[in-house]
Amino acid sequence: MELLELKGLKVTFPTEAGPVRAVDSVDLKLKAKEKLGLIGETGSGKSVLAHAILRLLQSDALSEGEILYRGKNLVGLEKKELRRLRGRELALIPQNPSRSLNPLKKVGKQLSETLRQAGYSRKEAAVRVPELLFAVGASEPVSWAEAYPHECSGGMCERIVIAMALAFSPALLLADEPTKGLDSRNKARILALLKSLTKERALLFITHDLEAAAQICTRLAFMYAGELVELGARTKVLEHPLHPYTQGLLRACPKGGLHPIPGRSPPLFALPKGCRFQARCALAIERCRNEPPPFFDTGAGHFCRCWLCA
Ligand code: SF4
Repeated sequence: MELLELKGLKVTFPTEAGPVRAVDSVDLKLKAKEKLGLIGETGSGKSVLAHAILRLLQSDALSEGEILYRGKNLVGLEKKELRRLRGRELALIPQNPSRSLNPLKKVGKQLSETLRQAGYSRKEAAVRVPELLFAVGASEPVSWAEAYPHECSGGMCERIVIAMALAFSPALLLADEPTKGLDSRNKARILALLKSLTKERALLFITHDLEAAAQICTRLAFMYAGELVELGARTKVLEHPLHPYTQGLLRACPKGGLHPIPGRSPPLFALPKGCRFQARCALAIERCRNEPPPFFDTGAGHFCRCWLCA
């Protein structure tokens, strides 16, 4: 059985311009201990997808389809059962860690409260706090525990929220842009940390940074304007990218020559008929303007949403 399986997942938000579908018919599977990178530009739907899995979306968002965790559908699950699963089984490393920490409480106190929710006694939590901080690379865990969030650097805050996510020993970690805004040294440290901490658990690594995902993930999935456009094993995708968007992202990396993809993704409230990438695609043909391409199975677990793969 898959650890996580998304079947036809759609997420729609009400807006003044009418309903906007931020995630459209996503099918995705994740095995226990697997590392999957979910890559896309801002607004592609990747963070919404992570929040939908954890049922952390705003109350008026509509989720349709199935989110199966160990075979149990999380869509429509009782709040009590959901609270039990969050943290213990699935945990989120949020974007903007400094904003997710309480500025008025010391780091150690916040970690201790999380551990108490996970079932640790006060005494056990007091022992576990420095252990967890040490596990995420704190050289002086006691002084980290005594610090307020505003006294911590961006890299420290990232490590602290990772420690919090690990408090319950979840089977699946969802890391939402954990390297965003970090300098190259801190980025390398966080990637190494995630790699070592997820040896025994699955990771859904959400990022706009293809090179970072390629360093720690064994499969890569690409989202564009709410849809998955390519999915496959890391080596296959990097050596033989099929979708023009993936090819463009590779050319935009330092190794590819830093050539950005021209143009912008279409607004979700005004999607074009046909392929959503057509306005930025140098390979577009007439069919691309009129018919949305399906997600073609090209073999060996490599999928691509492009008419050139038909
Ligand atoms: S379907 Fe057409 S427009 Fe879309 S990515 Fe493929 S070639 Fe480009």
